Amino acid sequence: MSSFVTITHEDCLGHDTGPHHRERPWRLETVRGLIDEMELPVIEAREASDEDLLLGHDPAYLEALEEVFARQEHADLDSDTHVSPGSRRASRLGAGGALQAVDLVLSGEAKRVFVATRPPGHHATRTRAMGFCIYGNTGLAALHALERHGLSRVAVLDFDVHHGNGTQDILWDEPRSLFISSHQEPKSLWPGTGARSETGAHDNVLNLPLASGSGASEMKVAWEDGLARLEAFKPELIIVSAGFDAHREDDISGLLWTAGDYWWLTNAIRGVARRCCEGRIVSCLEGGYNPTALAEGATAHLEALAR
Ligand SMILES: [Zn+2]
Repeated sequence: MSSFVTITHEDCLGHDTGPHHRERPWRLETVRGLIDEMELPVIEAREASDEDLLLGHDPAYLEALEEVFARQEHADLDSDTHVSPGSRRASRLGAGGALQAVDLVLSGEAKRVFVATRPPGHHATRTRAMGFCIYGNTGLAALHALERHGLSRVAVLDFDVHHGNGTQDILWDEPRSLFISSHQEPKSLWPGTGARSETGAHDNVLNLPLASGSGASEMKVAWEDGLARLEAFKPELIIVSAGFDAHREDDISGLLWTAGDYWWLTNAIRGVARRCCEGRIVSCLEGGYNPTALAEGATAHLEALAR
């Protein structure tokens, strides 16, 4: 098998959020189109099982979700997280795809995997859906690597413009994990968490808030700090929450990142992965709500992962 593969599934397009929602199927169609154009190897995602989801979610939350899904109707899990009859399968493929990517990398079948699914995952906490997210895909992937593959140190890096509050919640009390998130400063962007003072129960969380209006130079200073911390942690596996909504064309936020910045950051993460963990990276699609921004950012990320 190739050293870089992608995991995706067309049934993730069946998560129907309605015509006016930001997180719509075109986003995944765009990324799947890029994967096709770049002729990258593709594996179909598998669904997460109940046992997989219980790694990081409260049983009562999962039971409540199953009750909603069983009605086979459109419903709102919170003010901005909508589900439809296709959402159970789509969201289980997202979580399952992330775990499957960990399996591929830790079995040596691939070095780097990009998981192109939706809905995204990094806002889903142990006990609730939030911010378009139903299951905490990257947090679950980290716990899968620790609990089932017996790793001792797993890092999750999140460069989506919104704070990965759900991943932080899932990994807060997990001393074998390190979670590092850059995002627009909490005071000016949803969900309002992600201050530097939030450091986890075991000093295992590093938040890198960035001011609205900041661009490449501030991003690089923050991530050079973050990647130094990552390297000192000596991760055995690096998992990435890859959102492309910090791009200057995405009006959901005020950061001014460019395609070149996504390339720089992905390449820098690859450098740490080479030195610490034989190059092992699992990256999962999170946000990105402007067609140009998503295409440019995801292309740069995929090119830097695939080369
Ligand atoms: Zn986002």
